[in-house]
Formats: sequence, C-alpha cells, structure tokens
Amino acid sequence: MNYKALAERLLPGEYPPLESYEEKYPPRNLPKGAEVTRLAPSPTGFIHLGNLFAAIANERIAHQSGGILYLRIEDTDLKRKVDGAVEAVKNALRYFDIKFDEGAEIGGDDTYAPWYQRQRAEIYRAFVKHLVEEGRAYPCFCTEEELSALREEQTAKKEVTGYYGKYAKCRNLSEEEIYRNLDEGKPFVIRLKSLGNPENKRKFRDEIKGDITVPENDQDVVILKSDGIPTYHFAHAIDDHFMRTTLVIRGEEWLASLPIHIELFEALGFERPRYGHNCSLMKQDGESRRKLSKRKDPELSLEFYRKEGYFARAVKVYMLTLLNSNFEEWYRKNPEAPLESFKFSAGKMSKSGTLFDLDKLNDISKDELSKLSAEEMFDFLKTWADEYGTETQKGYFVDREKMLNTLTLCMGIGGKKRRKDFTTASQAMEFIKFFFERTPQEDEYRCDQETRVAVLTSFLKKYDPADDGQTWFAKVKETAAENGFAAEMKEYKTNPENYKGSVADVAEILRIATTGRANTPDLCTIQQILGEKETRARIKAQL
Ligand code: GLU
Repeated sequence: MNYKALAERLLPGEYPPLESYEEKYPPRNLPKGAEVTRLAPSPTGFIHLGNLFAAIANERIAHQSGGILYLRIEDTDLKRKVDGAVEAVKNALRYFDIKFDEGAEIGGDDTYAPWYQRQRAEIYRAFVKHLVEEGRAYPCFCTEEELSALREEQTAKKEVTGYYGKYAKCRNLSEEEIYRNLDEGKPFVIRLKSLGNPENKRKFRDEIKGDITVPENDQDVVILKSDGIPTYHFAHAIDDHFMRTTLVIRGEEWLASLPIHIELFEALGFERPRYGHNCSLMKQDGESRRKLSKRKDPELSLEFYRKEGYFARAVKVYMLTLLNSNFEEWYRKNPEAPLESFKFSAGKMSKSGTLFDLDKLNDISKDELSKLSAEEMFDFLKTWADEYGTETQKGYFVDREKMLNTLTLCMGIGGKKRRKDFTTASQAMEFIKFFFERTPQEDEYRCDQETRVAVLTSFLKKYDPADDGQTWFAKVKETAAENGFAAEMKEYKTNPENYKGSVADVAEILRIATTGRANTPDLCTIQQILGEKETRARIKAQL
C-alpha cells in the first residue's frame, strides 16, 4: 500500500512540517516543578459542580507551584454547542474567583493559542495525515447502520463492543477497495490502527488514584470525524502536548479511555502529561448513594449557587474540605489565613466517590457569613440583589444607614455572640424583609384578641422611641403587670396559676405585632430601626 499517496488523497494539500509545531509551541519557560493545568469544558451551556470541583484543584495545583492554569474550549461536537456558553463558564468561575492565566476569552500570553479546538483544525489534520502516511491510521467507510449492527452482534455474543481486531472491517480493505469507495464519494472517518493487546497490562501512576493497572488499547478509535474535526481523544493528545500541559486533572469517567490516550501519545511520539482522575460527586439518596444528576438535583448546576446567593468563599471552603482530606483540620487551626496558604495536594484527593451534602455547605455558609462586617454583608447582599433581586429588594439598599443597622443587629455584631442566621443572600433578604416591608403575619398569636388589644394599647401609651433598652424593657414589664401577666419570670414559674402568662408572652405579642414573627433579634432595636411612625403604625394596624 502506498500510504503517502493515500494520505494525500484523504487530506490533500500542503501542511506545515510537524517539527514546525514543536517550534511554534515550545516547552514553557517555567521554573522546575511548575505545573501547567487546564480546564477544558465543552460549551454545552451547563456548567456544574464537577467543573468547579476540578477547577479549584487545577487552580491550586498550578498556582501554588508557580505554574499556569488555562481555559480551553472543547467545541469539537457542534451538536452540543450552545450560544453564550463560554461567557457562562467564565462568569460562573469568576464568581468563585478561579483565576485563569490564559485561555479562551481570557487573553493572556497567546503563544499556545488558539484555545478553541475548532480553530485548531489544521494542526490535528497535519498529524492525522502523518499517521496515515506511517500506516498508523486508515479511512473507514462503515455507515451508522453497519456500526450499530456490529454493536448488536457483539452484545449478543457477549463480546467487547467496538471497532477492533477482526471486527475492524475497513482496517483490511485493499488499496483498490479504498480508492473505489473514495471515487464513489463515500463519506469516511479516519481511525487509529491500534497495535495493542488488552491481555497486556501496564502499571500506571495516577496522581489521585495512585498505582493502577491499565490494559493496552486495541480499539481502532475514530481520530478524525467525517467533517474533518477530531474526536476528544485525538484533540486531547494534540492539545495537551502543544499547550504543554504537565498534569491533566479530569473526571474519572475518562479513566476507561486512558488506554486509548496512552497509545495515541505513543503513536504521535509525544511525551505524556501526568494524569489525575477525579472522583465523582455523590449524593445520599435514602439508603444509597448516587451520582449528582442534572435532572434531579438543582444543586449540581453552578447557576443554582449564584441565584440562591451562596457566598463564594463558603462554597470554596466546602469544596476544599471535600477535595483534600486534611483541609478541614488545617482550616480549623487557621481560620483567618488566606485559603491559598493551604498546601493542596493531588495525592490527598479522594480516590472514590465524594459525598456532597448541601446541609453541610449551609452550615459552612452560616459560619463564613457570620465573619463578615456589616459593610461587607451590605456589599454582598447588594451585589446579589442587583443581579437577582426584585425591584422591591433593590430598594432595601437606598437607605444605607438603615440597612447597616439592620445587618448589625441581625448578625449580632457588637453583641456577646455573633448570630448565625444567614445562609445565602436570598435567605438573608427574606430574613430581613420585615425591616423594609410590612410582611404578612407568619406566626399566630397565642392569646385571645381581647388580651392582645389590651396589651398593645397599654404598650402604645408608654412607648417612647427615645427609650434605651433597659427603659424599654421596664415598660414591657409594666405592660405585663397591668394586663394580668407576671412581670418577673421567677414569680411566674413559682405561681403560674396566678397569671395569664409571663412578660415573655407579652414580648411575643409585641413582636408579632411589629414584625409578624414570633422569633426575631432584639425587639427594642428593631423598633428603633423601624422608627416611631412605622412602629406605631404596625401596632395600630393590629388593634
Ligand atoms: N471536554 C471534556 C469534558 O468536558 C474535558 C475532559 C478533560 O478535562 O480532558 O469532559
């Protein structure tokens, strides 16, 4: 077979010599030990927790070693491409403060660009042509129908499915047959001519999973599709070589394809990067664990965290807790240290499924938000409201002073203990809603109407917005005593039968009348924040 002529027929025209690519994309000039990592999402428009999980690991590994993190867009599959997807990736990762050094829509040093695979077609084709010339790749004319018939046959015989060995029909076409097919204009793909034998096993060092055994590949995988665009496998080998990636961290669903990638790197004569296969995020579902699912679990999408207004640092802290087994302890000992000072290590990543628990994230979120100052909380909530809030919610921020007072009170700033009532921005906005709007009553009064009216009326007579906390509370006690409630808790506990209730019950009536809720931060301060007019109006509305 004249492979050179065949290569010219399949991929006609002059391609740059292969060495020129080595010169064009030289090894990176980085200090020893610096890692080059990447995030390589497909532009499907769905960016998920798994992407963030991998992004944080890649970012830490690259930057703590003085290396580079870049963004490559794997757009070889047009069917899955969605407009605006790259923007969505960028925005989602920016929210979590993942800093890329270079890449698609990022800019930076463009020595290794372009970063969209569709713009790299020439490089892939040049190398495919070379493999055909060497007799390591061949055209395959099998139709979809033939391939699915093959799959059925193999399944029925309980054999491994795929295009390999005796099943690789086009591998053995004669020169004549090939040219006849080409002359007839039959569409074709180009496949790797595999030389491997799965009986042979190789030792492989995975940076996350440790030492594993990998069989040799024998699948004649497609490397170039009929539209002249490569498959993931081939693009991966070319791109990670010429973008000079040193460590590929990717989902463990790619582990099964590792034999193919090992063979491709060898066939191309490239040195392989190191690999770390990252375990999947699991969810507890009743008794069993399952992978997080796009359909069932809204928390899989990164959009969920922005819409709900999760505090990015909290999500990051939780992700780091899941990613590195020693992070939690480190963080407990160094709560103030920047997260970057934690020594991240691929070797400490989980080897099998990691359980993702939203309740755990919520607890961490409460802790993280309780560390903010009122000003920081103001900015966090305002940024969220500007993007996701209603017009009414945006209005909460007009009176800066009032909002800061509200937050100071609700977060327990300056009190004995910081409160931890806020989980997310949307939840916090719900929590503070009654400061800014008259909200529907959420909790029921636990007394009859007559008592309530009597209590509220006598309180209103005494109420003076200038009162400090102590004076205010003394008046609540007076109100209690005037209306058949015990002014002192102790007295009530000794002789409950003598009273309608205690001063606590009176405070609850006032609280529900003012806020609609039975549980709130300090009521006297709430009334001060609301101001006299609003406080009186709310209480009167209950009479
Ligand atoms: N485009 C692939 C994916 O989204 C990337 C896998 C890799 O990181 O190599 O799954």
